[in-house]
Amino acid sequence: MEKERKIDMHVHSDNSPDGKHSPMFICEQAVQNELRAIAITDHCEIDNYKSQGYDSATFHSYFETSKARVAFQGQLLVLLGIEIGQPLYDINLTERIVITKNYDVVLGSIHRPDGFDCDIKEIDYSKIDVYEFMRSYFSQLEEIAKCPYVDVLAHITCPMRRIQGLYNIDFDYSKISDATDSLLKTIIDNGKALEINTSGLRQPVGRTMPDVNIIKRYRELGGEYITIGSDSHSAYDVGLGLIEGMKIAKECGFDKVTFFVERQIMQINNI
Ligand SMILES: [Zn+2]
Ligand SMILES: [Zn+2]
Repeated sequence: MEKERKIDMHVHSDNSPDGKHSPMFICEQAVQNELRAIAITDHCEIDNYKSQGYDSATFHSYFETSKARVAFQGQLLVLLGIEIGQPLYDINLTERIVITKNYDVVLGSIHRPDGFDCDIKEIDYSKIDVYEFMRSYFSQLEEIAKCPYVDVLAHITCPMRRIQGLYNIDFDYSKISDATDSLLKTIIDNGKALEINTSGLRQPVGRTMPDVNIIKRYRELGGEYITIGSDSHSAYDVGLGLIEGMKIAKECGFDKVTFFVERQIMQINNI
């Protein structure tokens, strides 16, 4: 029964700088792990599109995933995805990337926040006001939630992997509840999906991104669309945490989970 429902909407192949395996091998592992569908969503960082080779990587990801889709037909639904980092840095480029290919799903994310010339992994959170930082991060995500070329807001609390997981800062979400509500309402008003990213479950932070309280709040405010993604960078991690993610979604009031085909919302019953 679970095979019918396990869909991993966030997977990286070796067409991402930090990915280890080819789309074909990932699909093979996904079949072994009894998944019904996966979306290969390689990185495309708009602010470093040409300088860091995302132009050719994006091309290879799309066509290798297309080949895997054919090769695994009948065994696994392979969705053509992309994770666009900083999509508003050059909205014309983002538009061109999305509309010139037939993507199933576009994830929007921020890895390099405004005002920083480094990745969120490299920021020294002991030297900044983390509340002010997260407010700014959420307001940047809010703009992405309005972008017509994005379907899913990915790992919206990503900096927490470091703030809580590495710097052990005791973050009190109630101090930014207004900013959180504003982001969630914008996601809802624009018909976007919220991702439950399960990668945190296998990292020191030990929980999903976002946390249960934010997923619950999204539901309370009227949110309907939850995708679940492992954010795996290795074929062996594909599908990890999906069942836990589905259980969390259920606890938060979601009887259905969402996936996308040709950028249209599809839903299946949750466990
Ligand atoms: Zn990401
Ligand atoms: Zn990712």
